[in-house]
Amino acid sequence: MFGGTFDPPHVGHLVAAIDARQALELDIVLLVVANAPWQKIGSRQVSPAADRLAMVRAAVADAPGLEVSDIEIARGGLSYTADTLEALRGQEPGAELFLVLGNDAAAGFATWERHEEVARLARLVVVDRPGTPTPIDDGFAWTRVDIPELEISSTELRQRVAEGRSIRYLTPEGVATCIGERGLYR
Ligand code: ATP
Ligand code: MG
Repeated sequence: MFGGTFDPPHVGHLVAAIDARQALELDIVLLVVANAPWQKIGSRQVSPAADRLAMVRAAVADAPGLEVSDIEIARGGLSYTADTLEALRGQEPGAELFLVLGNDAAAGFATWERHEEVARLARLVVVDRPGTPTPIDDGFAWTRVDIPELEISSTELRQRVAEGRSIRYLTPEGVATCIGERGLYR
């Protein structure tokens, strides 16, 4: 599982997902689109879930081993990873579950709703993002996957679109098309 707001998805997400899959020999990496990201609500406007889902679908269109899940959107309400992992385990009782996080997300892991349960349900995997290294909670057994550190964020992409700057090569073409068609971030 690789969860996110994906507002919008970008190559940083995709490289992290693909490298985690190869390094850990995962059958699939499931990009789970948050319905209501409880840590972001209130601090900024989050695009409608349907738009973010469409963009993530466009992003992984031709990527083997990457799949998109709308499980949190279908569930509605605030999105808690503990609920999602529990549901995934219910669907695939024999599967070994992994949770992939960027180091910024990993740094806040101990603030998550029922994070002990999350750590019981899935192996925790962390990938690095550029910037100030944030210490991750070493009370948990993190598996680190090395990826090229790409200084790209959804925040930057939203800004670029708002300023009329190109996002080409920062996200797959299908995502840029989707943003244009839906008039997002203007
Ligand atoms: P925003 O700027 O809106 O917070 P974001 O780029 O951080 O967006 P999120 O949807 O918040 O994207 O992140 C989803 C997951 O992807 C998190 O675990 C985050 O750490 C990870 N992630 C995002 N960008 C990168 C990147 N460039 N490299 C590695 N991991 C990333
Ligand atoms: Mg983020």
